[in-house]
Amino acid sequence: MDFEMEEITCPLCGGSRGKLLHQEGSFQMVRCPLCQFIFLNPRPTSDSLFRFYQTYLPEEETSVESWEKMMKTVFRRAANLLQSYRRDGRLLDVGTGFGFFLAEMKKRGWDVTGVEISQKAIDYARDVLGVTIYPGPLEKLGFPESHFDVVTGFYVIEHIPNPVVFLKECYRILKPGGLLLLRYPHTTPIKNLLHFFGIKNCLYDLPAHLSDFTPKMIQRCLAGIGFGRCRHLIGGYTLPRDLGKRVTSILSGNLSEAFYYLSLGKILFPGVSKTILVFKEERI
Ligand SMILES: [Zn+2]
Repeated sequence: MDFEMEEITCPLCGGSRGKLLHQEGSFQMVRCPLCQFIFLNPRPTSDSLFRFYQTYLPEEETSVESWEKMMKTVFRRAANLLQSYRRDGRLLDVGTGFGFFLAEMKKRGWDVTGVEISQKAIDYARDVLGVTIYPGPLEKLGFPESHFDVVTGFYVIEHIPNPVVFLKECYRILKPGGLLLLRYPHTTPIKNLLHFFGIKNCLYDLPAHLSDFTPKMIQRCLAGIGFGRCRHLIGGYTLPRDLGKRVTSILSGNLSEAFYYLSLGKILFPGVSKTILVFKEERI
């Protein structure tokens, strides 16, 4: 697919176009020298990205099934985690894909809504799983203020052109005391390691991923918007269909969990996906 590209300044601080960090094919990830944010520059325009997402998710039935299997553990862990805070309520899942997380939460008694960009995924979620889902992006839907008890986004933040605007919208539509749960990859430490050994790879998944948040960076961003009581965890691992990737995921997932628990939550293994949970602080 041909992408129409645009040159940008740092999506977090706006202060720099960034310095080259890693090249992946014709795409480049740069690091902002001012705030250290890592982002794709130049990047596809919004229209280009919208077209790209119409073919991003797999279509065949077997692929949808393996996607469900891949995400199952992560979804179950997140559902249990959310339910350790509240038994039920109104939940919005942004970038919900085929809607499997919504279906899981609906089964657990939650009132669920989804937002998704891919029309094929929207059709599947509506027709097969019977969940309510709106075509994104979130910022254009104008949900009422203080409306949801929980907002979730699994592997979404790295796809968002303007993460601050997106997180502010999540904040606005959450009830005071409401929870935001995000699941995100953290790829740069592994890229750095492979680069050191001269191993070529396309782990950034470009141009789908527009940025690569470190745990510190995402925490700082959320705190700046007004979220508090941050809890960061490993939160399980995905199970890709490819055997090699699956074994790597299980090993690194379990190893990072072990480090996390043995260090009493202090060590967040670099380079593996993480789950972050924050609350919309109640204003007095
Ligand atoms: Zn910056």
